[in-house]
Amino acid sequence: MSGTPARSSLQNVSGGERPERDAQYQRHMEIQSFGGGPSAPAGLVSPVPQRNGAEVGEAWLEQFADSPDVLKSTPEQQTIVSVGDLAIGGGEFVTMAGPCSVETERQLMETAEQVAKHGARVLRGGAFKPRSSPYAFQGLGLEGLKLLAAARAATGLAVVTEVMSADDAPLVGEYADILQIGSRSMENYALLEAAAHTGRPILLKRGMVATVADLLRSAQCVLSHGNPNVILCERGIRTFETVTRNTFDVAGIVVLKEASHLPVIADPSHAAGRRSLVPGLARTAVAANADGLIVEVHPHPEKAWSDGEQSLTFDEFESMMADLAPWCELRALRNHALEPVA
Ligand code: PEP
Ligand code: MN
Repeated sequence: MSGTPARSSLQNVSGGERPERDAQYQRHMEIQSFGGGPSAPAGLVSPVPQRNGAEVGEAWLEQFADSPDVLKSTPEQQTIVSVGDLAIGGGEFVTMAGPCSVETERQLMETAEQVAKHGARVLRGGAFKPRSSPYAFQGLGLEGLKLLAAARAATGLAVVTEVMSADDAPLVGEYADILQIGSRSMENYALLEAAAHTGRPILLKRGMVATVADLLRSAQCVLSHGNPNVILCERGIRTFETVTRNTFDVAGIVVLKEASHLPVIADPSHAAGRRSLVPGLARTAVAANADGLIVEVHPHPEKAWSDGEQSLTFDEFESMMADLAPWCELRALRNHALEPVA
């Protein structure tokens, strides 16, 4: 098979400066391609053409061939998305938290203060809301953006909020530090283009029926429009399972961390659909070496205008953050141990 940019860049081992790590990477690539070897055990006669291990491995990587710019060319390659003094993908496990929707000044301010106090670095909150029903609350729009900007001024948190239409992208880009592309919009390429052109970092949520390769293709689209600052987000996918709102694809996080240099965060709220499950999923995101979390928090979840069942109370957020702390420490130690030799 001829080498595509994707495959050759993934297999490209950097020069001889770090022989131990290069050897480790080589071994890793061999394991990934199942060790190569003969096409079939000697003597096995099969009517089905047998592919050898290396070909199977190549076929696996081939899935990402459309997205060469988001793939790692060395195992250490990592994009850091800078937002003010915050470095997403830079080692710190970054928590983004806030209500599903911006509802009132009081709701947003109280939430911003509480999540900042307990370690969040970014305030989330939808001003433009994608809803399953057109009769459901659609968001405060510009008024919501202004409240988010006021909460940023009061707390120092950065702001992430969703943009739903290409026409709104410049406006949302004026108020937000990070533009969120929602699950339902992941393949809206006109929106991706307009969002990319604002120059703001893009938080790209995986579509609920999108494969990992589909997600990377959309990320490639943003990069192709000149914006390299993309944060990928696993938020659960539709499967036959009904005990959770979506199925949290932790394997997807591991694959993304292995294949792509872009930061990867997890959204346990939309994956779980129930607040009691959120801290457990968050812990698995830390263990999978995600770069951060985005989680819904509300002062009175039972009264929330959207996604109350999956929103944490302030106390629950505080205890989740305390629970995550030792896991984040372990994650940092492990990543430090794997840092390239200077
Ligand atoms: C949200 O973040 O509130 C949201 C609507 O998320 P998603 O696009 O993942 O459903
Ligand atoms: Mn929500």
